[in-house]
Amino acid sequence: MPSIPCPKEYADDADLRRYFEIRLSRNDEFINTLVETIENKLSESESAETKAVLSALSTTVGSSLIFTQLTMTPFSDWDADSQACALNRLRESQFSLRRKIFSGLKKLICFLAFSFVSEREKYLNPMWSALQYPGPPMVGEKIEQNKCFASKSTISHDDSDLLLGNLIFDCIIVGSGAGGSVTAANLSAAGYSVLIVEKGSEPIVDHLEVNSFETMYEKSGLLASSDGNIGILAASVLGGGPTINWSCCIETPSHVRTEWVESMGLIEFRKNGEFDEAMEIVLSRISGKADHVVHNASNKILIEGAKSMGLSYEATKQNLKDCATDRAGYICFGASSYHFFL
Ligand SMILES: Cc1cc2nc3c(=O)[nH]c(=O)nc-3n(C[C@H](O)[C@H](O)[C@H](O)COP(=O)(O)OP(=O)(O)OC[C@H]3O[C@@H](n4cnc5c(N)ncnc54)[C@H](O)[C@@H]3O)c2cc1C
Repeated sequence: MPSIPCPKEYADDADLRRYFEIRLSRNDEFINTLVETIENKLSESESAETKAVLSALSTTVGSSLIFTQLTMTPFSDWDADSQACALNRLRESQFSLRRKIFSGLKKLICFLAFSFVSEREKYLNPMWSALQYPGPPMVGEKIEQNKCFASKSTISHDDSDLLLGNLIFDCIIVGSGAGGSVTAANLSAAGYSVLIVEKGSEPIVDHLEVNSFETMYEKSGLLASSDGNIGILAASVLGGGPTINWSCCIETPSHVRTEWVESMGLIEFRKNGEFDEAMEIVLSRISGKADHVVHNASNKILIEGAKSMGLSYEATKQNLKDCATDRAGYICFGASSYHFFL
């Protein structure tokens, strides 16, 4: 991947020519990453299904069945045009199982193709330079981990007191994310003893996509709806969503709150009610504000467009603190010291 010849119009561009010359199917590091992912990172049933599909594609009978066409050679021996044609038919098949095979393979292979890093290429991905993506700015740098994590107030899971049930808490909260941590902080401030139980680990932030997805996201970032058509990103890490989210702090819009008050009787969401007070406390605690937002290239184009059309625009608040602007785009691969936590 990609396995098609470089289109003529790109022939003069050395980067793009190199991109089209890359054959990941013959790259041992990529193949090892793919095998390791199928063996160890997918669930047992997904791993078995993927192996069954790949085995079928390497046989004549299996290829005939999957693509519903008679063939004398396995899919792996077809030329690139025939493979592309057959894959397109699979993608558009009226049978959901065939579409699922296509979307599952596409997601797995494309995700790994663009995110795996090669030791031979100094921990970069062989396709990044052709895409003019330099990789995370801190590749190879030692990153100062968030002080909040460094304080080590967590209890390790093999703590014998905990295992023996010798610790008693007023409240136990499952999950250290946005909801759990705010609730724990409030309960603790009210004088209750609180234990937060978290299944994810402490983040090790190097901002490499492949490592971050593997260590901080539910199912290594490969969680999907049952038909495989919708990818679902969810945190599985100490700190939950706020450790990897994009830090946009959009306050609940007033029309939504009005609906909650009027149709559900949730009076705490009334203007100037309890909810406003809570929102103010949380935003101030996480430094959610808009005055330090630096727009990226695509935002700048949108702003120019809005201005020229006479439309108003506004930056949403972000809970970034002292964030180097060249690094803000990497926060979904793990917050490091500049990202401010609850
Ligand atoms: C990539 C990404 C970007 C986002 N960007 C934004 C944004 O810019 N602005 C915004 O407002 N929102 C954003 N969100 C959404 C936001 O992060 C979530 O809505 C929010 O974190 C949900 O809070 P929560 O407490 O319900 O769950 P989470 O914060 O996800 O916390 C759940 C925690 O529970 C743990 N857990 C789950 N099951 C168990 C178990 N059985 N035992 C122990 N622990 C368990 C998980 O590991 C996780 O740490 C983003 C989310 C993602 C994934």
